[in-house]
Amino acid sequence: MIIGIDDTDSRKGMCTTYLCAVLVDELREYGDVSTPRLVRLNPCIPFKTRGNGAISFEVVCAGKEEEVKEVVRTRVCELSELNEEGTNPGVVFGCVLDIISYAEEETLKHFYERAVREVLTLEDTYSTLADLQFDYFGLKNRRGLIGALAAVSFFVLQRNQPNYYDFTYELIEYRKKQNRGKARVIDEASVWKADAATYPLTWDTVDVANNKIVFAPHSPCPVLFGIRGDSADAIYRADKLIHAEPEERKMLFITNQGTDSHLIPLYAATKAKLHEFHSYSLVGEVCSNPKTIEGGHVVFPISLSDSGTIECIAYEPTKGFRNLIRKLRVGDEITAFGSQKKGTINLEKIEIRKLNVVEERNPRCGKCGRSMDSAGRLQGYRCKRCGTHRAHKEVVTIKRQIEEGFYETPPVARRHLSKPLVRVTAKRIHPSR
Ligand code: ATP
Repeated sequence: MIIGIDDTDSRKGMCTTYLCAVLVDELREYGDVSTPRLVRLNPCIPFKTRGNGAISFEVVCAGKEEEVKEVVRTRVCELSELNEEGTNPGVVFGCVLDIISYAEEETLKHFYERAVREVLTLEDTYSTLADLQFDYFGLKNRRGLIGALAAVSFFVLQRNQPNYYDFTYELIEYRKKQNRGKARVIDEASVWKADAATYPLTWDTVDVANNKIVFAPHSPCPVLFGIRGDSADAIYRADKLIHAEPEERKMLFITNQGTDSHLIPLYAATKAKLHEFHSYSLVGEVCSNPKTIEGGHVVFPISLSDSGTIECIAYEPTKGFRNLIRKLRVGDEITAFGSQKKGTINLEKIEIRKLNVVEERNPRCGKCGRSMDSAGRLQGYRCKRCGTHRAHKEVVTIKRQIEEGFYETPPVARRHLSKPLVRVTAKRIHPSR
């Protein structure tokens, strides 16, 4: 039986991954329990508490399904933040064979991919649950069923074909009850050492450019820290090197974090194809030089294939990434990666596909070498000193302060789903670290 759970926490406490870790440990007495999955869903969903995460795992417990369901129901009722307005738990119990039919696979795939990229309704979810004949349980408005079913879908697809979707790992350590709400005790020097010993197999533990440790939350939730990476071995090696307050428990998750699964690629984007709360990779051309606006955010428009434009923004928290953005100029061909909110693309990374190195200038006088002035509308250019005349502007090749390739926001500003460039195999990558 595959169990998916979502929406049990609030900003004031708890974390669905913690509930998952408690259940995985507890349910081992009923049968084998798999490595749990942590799926991040559409990062633009307004109802999310933090990272729009949901979890799933499998318990092989032939004959004890009802007992297992009862344990899950009890823990969800006990540990969910039910008094908080935005907490609406959902649990899905999926009974899926190792070999699934093509129709089932399509249904699961469709639901998971929509949950990562689009905005689903509870009606979509009830109808998919009915098609798949999955049992479920929810509390309050039961919105968590959306994430819970998406997490079960990811589990099935990924269990049956491990490379069906790109995936990474996160090892999360949880705090003892008596320490929650207090400042986290973590020896920072040991974290830098662990990072140096295991990067790039682990990533987003520290942010070198901003001199910050980024693997621990600052909220009152039970998470002490999470080590992310591509290799479970490297993650455990890093974990051994880190000195911190004693943990209550730890759990390794297989996850879609750091995979860019939320991005919808659009090579010929038009205004009509772009929707709020969706994330894209958009090919376009910079059509005005970037400018810095109030708050330190940097904005510029790119042209779309229908000759419309869309504004891109690098927010202040993206720190040094904005310096790169400020160096773009009209005519640069780029791919912008990010989410559309209020009609603007919030940048997570960009690829500079082709720099515009051509500049038109007033021509220089052949005699004195000085810049010529306009001689009037449509009358070319004239040197005031020498009286020489030229009909057109001069086209010169300029040197740019940036190179072509991929650039990204730094780890301090990274979204869970954004693929760090250290994981990208393309040429000309400029990872931020
Ligand atoms: P945490 O990361 O701490 O678990 P969270 O950020 O995951 O918190 P939730 O409390 O789980 O936030 O709230 C997200 C809600 O949005 C859930 O009810 C989930 O079912 C729902 N949801 C997730 N993805 C979508 C989607 N694509 N469309 C509509 N609703 C969604």
